[in-house]
Amino acid sequence: MVQFKNVFTGQEARNYTKATTSQKSLRAGGKHNDLENVGYTARHHTFFEMLGNFSFGDYFKEEAIYHTWTLLTQEFAIAKEKLYVTVYHTDEEAASYWKKIANLSDNRIIRIKTNDNFWSMGDIGPCGPCSEVFYDHGDHIKGGLPGTREQDGDRFIEIWNMVFMQFEQLDANTRIELPNKSIDTGMGLERISAVMQNVHDNYEIDLFKEIIDYTEHIVKVKAEGNAQFSYRVIADHLRACAFLISDGIIPSNEGRGYVLRRIMRRSIRHAHILGSTEPLMHRLLPKLVELMGNAYPELKRAEDFISNILEQEELRFKLTLERGLKLLDEELIHAQPNSFLSGEVAFKLYDTYGFPIDLTEEILKNKQVSIELESFNNKMQEQKERARKSWKGSNEAKTDKIWFELHATFGSTEFLGYTLNQLEGKVLALIKSNTLVNSVERLKDKFLLISNQTPFYGEAGGQMGDIGFIRTANCTIKVIDTLKYIGGIIAHVCILERGEGIKIGDNADFTIDVQYRQNLKIHHSATHILHAVLHQTLGKHVTQKGSLVAHDRLRFDISHMSSLTEEQIILIEEKVNQIIRENSKVTTTLMSTQDAIQSGAVALFGEKYDSEVRVVSMGSNVINGKAYSLELCGGTHVTRTGDIGVFKIISEYAIAAGIRRIEAVCGEFVLKLMKHNDSILDNLSSILKTNRDVLTDKVKELVSSKKELTEQIMALQISMLDLDEKQIILDSLEISGIKLIYKLVKNIDNKILRLSAEQISNKCNDLVIVYINKASKLSVTVAVSKEIINKVHAGNLAKSISIFLGGSGGGGQANIAQAGGVDTSKINLLPNKIKDLLTDLMNLSLQ
Ligand code: ATP
Ligand code: MG
Repeated sequence: MVQFKNVFTGQEARNYTKATTSQKSLRAGGKHNDLENVGYTARHHTFFEMLGNFSFGDYFKEEAIYHTWTLLTQEFAIAKEKLYVTVYHTDEEAASYWKKIANLSDNRIIRIKTNDNFWSMGDIGPCGPCSEVFYDHGDHIKGGLPGTREQDGDRFIEIWNMVFMQFEQLDANTRIELPNKSIDTGMGLERISAVMQNVHDNYEIDLFKEIIDYTEHIVKVKAEGNAQFSYRVIADHLRACAFLISDGIIPSNEGRGYVLRRIMRRSIRHAHILGSTEPLMHRLLPKLVELMGNAYPELKRAEDFISNILEQEELRFKLTLERGLKLLDEELIHAQPNSFLSGEVAFKLYDTYGFPIDLTEEILKNKQVSIELESFNNKMQEQKERARKSWKGSNEAKTDKIWFELHATFGSTEFLGYTLNQLEGKVLALIKSNTLVNSVERLKDKFLLISNQTPFYGEAGGQMGDIGFIRTANCTIKVIDTLKYIGGIIAHVCILERGEGIKIGDNADFTIDVQYRQNLKIHHSATHILHAVLHQTLGKHVTQKGSLVAHDRLRFDISHMSSLTEEQIILIEEKVNQIIRENSKVTTTLMSTQDAIQSGAVALFGEKYDSEVRVVSMGSNVINGKAYSLELCGGTHVTRTGDIGVFKIISEYAIAAGIRRIEAVCGEFVLKLMKHNDSILDNLSSILKTNRDVLTDKVKELVSSKKELTEQIMALQISMLDLDEKQIILDSLEISGIKLIYKLVKNIDNKILRLSAEQISNKCNDLVIVYINKASKLSVTVAVSKEIINKVHAGNLAKSISIFLGGSGGGGQANIAQAGGVDTSKINLLPNKIKDLLTDLMNLSLQ
């Protein structure tokens, strides 16, 4: 017994030298594995109760044999003729005590040469010869004495094993005598019960009979023939699973969690064989708790938890079990005894349908077919490689390495959020600042948390990640986003809100924000309907170029050359809403990618799909009876289209050549939008002091009166410039045959100056007008009559004036231009400067 190892060698002392135990034992993996015996023999369980007595340097061989014999033959009153014993072939001492104490004849003391009768914990450590007691269940049962070829039969059943711990193995070649010789024994409670209850078979003892009867009552198939075999497996595995889960182990794809999953899936298959369509195991649990809950209160304490896990796992495996079995049946139609199942098929069963390899082996056993294990293992290796290669990379070598490591160690995270909003999961890894850490303790710290399973959807396929809470007895963690990494690892983006912190190995309650998820769902399902409607209204050329499903809006990019017309948008909106109102059921089916595409499901070009895909369908299409929308999709969806409520497009625009983006909102967000629009209208009504119905007329009126007023103001301002045309000509300066009007004004709208200058220059010949407007800055307006623009370019002149006034130049057309200036001190010099400039220009044009 492992926990006493150092006591046997004397390294550790306890305040007692003798002990008796009752131990929960599990033999379903590692050194002891009886999983595949369960159901086939009368004596094996995965989980059983082992009774033992121990001596640590106290009593030894003689006394141990004496106690065993006395208990069996006197206390339990088992007939001596029914018992046989074995000893290790060199252990004369043990043989002589059996003779002396039990008075057994030589043919009842069987000497065994093999390691079956020499116990050791490993390559080194305490060890010693064994002596076992066998019970003869009678010659009507097949089987031979230990050491014979028929020893594995169920006639002679080992009920008790004693280990005489007298040596210590130091290395491969050195074995020393232990100073304090010890005793370690084990007797299976179920096997001794069978003897005491006068039944041959462990599965006929009271406890198992009650479980099997109860199951029979629920399943309603007689527990006889082949069915009996399934009943036994179910009863045994129910115990094993319940006890493992009560110890905090939950099904997963690694370590102890996988030992549990293998047992669970084996029993689920047998429930399936018995024809049970609904999950069965969790319905049997109350009976087990009734029978064993008093002796093991942990079963009572964890009953709800166990029940939940049993049901979840069964629901999940049921999804793929039947199709996996079908595949296997097809493969086996022509299989001959002693042939092999290809490793590829075994891998597909494992990878796609969740069949643990030993489950496939068990199914094949009856047909005498084995698995090509080598090619199976190669496939497993290839899968790891593929995952590594398909990882696009986060461009951060350090983080990439972490995800590879996590994927190699734990595989992908189980996403259970299609059916569950809340579950118990186990923390497998924590990442803070791109580094794996064992725990997170500081409040407000941000980190990533990876668990074996989760209801949180990791951002993928356009759908954003979930938010929610992760809680343990010691802390509350807020999940602000959920991401998906290589090979399907789901990482919760967390902030430690309250409590002492979290560490690897903690069990926690994972709860998503249900309302947030519901909003993600409605926007996702609406996206599918929109996609189908776009196909129908715009044409088959429309393909999805991108999609975003957030909780408060959706965005859908399509390939389409022109912008959508107002009528098209209204039509699309109406059709989407019509399908929503049909309120048809949204169904999700798992199928092979090939079948899915054949059924007409829309697959995205260039997207990689697993060999098994989810196909989401919604809406009924009257024309060909098929679903209106049929898409391959891993996202989460509403139950009925009516759940979406209402759909409203809020914008449509181009994001690249030939790609249009449609943005829309659904459900309560349409209401929000309406409220927002309402309040705008209300504000307008109150500002304009009118009711909504006449708002449009009122605004039209305002716009036209504004236009009128602007025109009036302009006219007024022009008149204020005091520029009578005749007067202008009189005021103009003659320079080299052209007329110049120069005017300095203050704070006049430049637009008006431009208008005025343009008007006058159009009416008069050979005229150059220059306005300098003095406002917060200086501005220059130059206009030139058409006949002379080849001599005086308004733009160039404005530029020269602007530079003279410290401005940056600017320019404009040949007949009208505006520019700026800053230096007011130059204004006095300006008239002469302009004259000079014009003179130069005219001289130039004469040359
Ligand atoms: P067997 O050869 O029948 O499998 P074992 O040699 O594996 O038995 P031990 O390892 O000596 O058994 O275990 C000690 C005792 O525990 C056994 O004598 C038996 O009473 C009980 N026991 C062992 N394995 C199982 C099992 N799978 N189910 C029920 N009881 C068991
Ligand atoms: Mg065994």
